[in-house]
Amino acid sequence: MGEAGDTKNESGEKMIDYPGAVDMLLPTNYSFDSCAPLSIVIHETGGDMTLESVHSTFLATMRSTTFAVDLDGRVAQYVPLVRGAGGNCCPDRDASGNLLCDPYWYAYIQQYGNLNLCTISIEHCNNSTNSLPMTQAQTDASNKLILWLCQRYKLNINHIKGHNSINPRSKPDCPGTFSFSQLATYLQGGSMGIPYGWKDDGQTLTAPNGVAVRLGFRDYVLSHGWDAGNYPLAPEQGVTLLEASNPGLGGGDQQVFRWALLGYTQLRGVFLEWCGQELAFVRGQLATYYPQVKTLQAEVDSLKQQLAATQQPTGVDPKTVAERLSTIGSAMSNYNNAIQQLVTQPL
Ligand SMILES: [Zn+2]
Repeated sequence: MGEAGDTKNESGEKMIDYPGAVDMLLPTNYSFDSCAPLSIVIHETGGDMTLESVHSTFLATMRSTTFAVDLDGRVAQYVPLVRGAGGNCCPDRDASGNLLCDPYWYAYIQQYGNLNLCTISIEHCNNSTNSLPMTQAQTDASNKLILWLCQRYKLNINHIKGHNSINPRSKPDCPGTFSFSQLATYLQGGSMGIPYGWKDDGQTLTAPNGVAVRLGFRDYVLSHGWDAGNYPLAPEQGVTLLEASNPGLGGGDQQVFRWALLGYTQLRGVFLEWCGQELAFVRGQLATYYPQVKTLQAEVDSLKQQLAATQQPTGVDPKTVAERLSTIGSAMSNYNNAIQQLVTQPL
């Protein structure tokens, strides 16, 4: 085992999801049958200083978290992402049973009962008092893992909480030294916001399909928590009309991504274009032009037949045919101009 992907191995067991994670999957009965990936809960181990030690503790206690991050930067996966791990159960309550947890959790508790069914949990190796500063390797590995999860499940910093948000009374020191402000800065981007699996050399951001994103478009992608699956379909291009649905915008530079459209004008800088609005407009135009093109095609077919007939002794007058063809030609060229305007970005 070891190769990542949410596939199953030959014997039908679930494999690890996170690329590069050490496969320490626990027996299936250590976790719950489902997990809605709606939040991430951060833990520190309170004594287990390595992935292996965390693994032993889990095996001995039948507890689990989804992941752990070692001081040396290694990441282990203990529970597949489709299953709920066992680290986030049971919010603290006062003597009368009132919840003491962060109100963030109220709606989740109401819907899921057990928070393990809607959270991904990440342990971070630390000492018995969770007072050891995280190492750089551990911080880097944790950041990358969390970014990967955020991109995979469309989460952001607001969905990432400490264990003590669930158990302020029983686990006030979990996590101890984890820095949420550091994480927030990392997730916001800068040079760190490289979508998972993309490459950046400081000048050029390259998606896994080999298409480059440069200059302002690169800055935009890096600073907007860009989804790793949102590849550019083609390099950026200068276009005379950015949006057929909004001609007032004029021309500029444009790059088309799988589900986004980035535009640039001198006036506005880089901005996210309204690609849904544009798509609706272009579809409307197609609906208008398509029947007209069909009519012209029928006319051409009929003329071809008549031309073929001219080879026979009883043909039509070639002059008439030539005139009708030239009429169709000029009609086609009108449609071409209209379509040219729509297709501002040949892909
Ligand atoms: Zn904890």
